[in-house]
Parts: sequence; structure tokens; C-alpha cells
Amino acid sequence: MSRESTVREWRTRVPRYRLLGGRCSDCGRSFYPPAKACPYCGSRNVAETELPRVGRLEAYTVLYSVESGARDRSPVVIGLVDLGVAKVVSEIVDVSDPESLERGVQVEAVFRRIYEDGDEGVIVYGVKFRPKA
Ligand SMILES: [Zn+2]
Repeated sequence: MSRESTVREWRTRVPRYRLLGGRCSDCGRSFYPPAKACPYCGSRNVAETELPRVGRLEAYTVLYSVESGARDRSPVVIGLVDLGVAKVVSEIVDVSDPESLERGVQVEAVFRRIYEDGDEGVIVYGVKFRPKA
């Protein structure tokens, strides 16, 4: 692997790992994922901001029917995570028994495989959350 491709890979990986969101300079609200315009007031006066990596599970749902590429991970837990300054919808991983999961538990961001492209062999990583020990 050339040095250039390593740098490029790192550059694309870091924003996902650091859990970057957006912050609006006009209304002061933070949001996730980052966007060119504020989802609350429409302002384009937004900048990237690092979000907290620990939050609380506000609500969740368990999906027993998932797409073919993710059947090895079924059932999949999708949660609404309240980070205080912003809310994030994300997969909740490392849940041994979805039935015993409780709202309000502390969860932390982790860096995990999102999907793998079978033809290209490209593995895409991103942020998910898991119950904090
Ligand atoms: Zn705004």
C-alpha cells in the first residue's frame, strides 16, 4: 500500500471514528450526521463538531427481519441515543439478549463494520453504540 493511499484511508476513517456531527452557529443546536444545512433552522452557517461518545439509550427497536447481507447479525437492535447535545439513531451492538435491554442505560460509541461489499471486498466501517460496561 502506498503512503498516499494510507493517508487517504486515514482521512476518511477519522471523521467516522471521532463521531463528528454538525453545529449550527445561528440556532446553536448540534446534530448528527453532519450536514451542509442545519436540520432545525435551515441555516448553512454550520461547522463540524465532535460529539460526546457516551450517551443514554432513549428508545430502541429490535429487527428480526434484516437484509440478506446482515443475517449473521440478526436480530439487529436500532436505538435512539441521547448524547445530550444531539440525538443519534444507530445500531446497538454487543447486546446478548435484546429482551433484557433497558431504556436509559448508558451506551458508548464504538467503531464497527457497517457492511462488506462482496464483489469489491471493501469493508466499510462506521460508528455504532454498545451498552457501556
Ligand atoms: Zn440551526
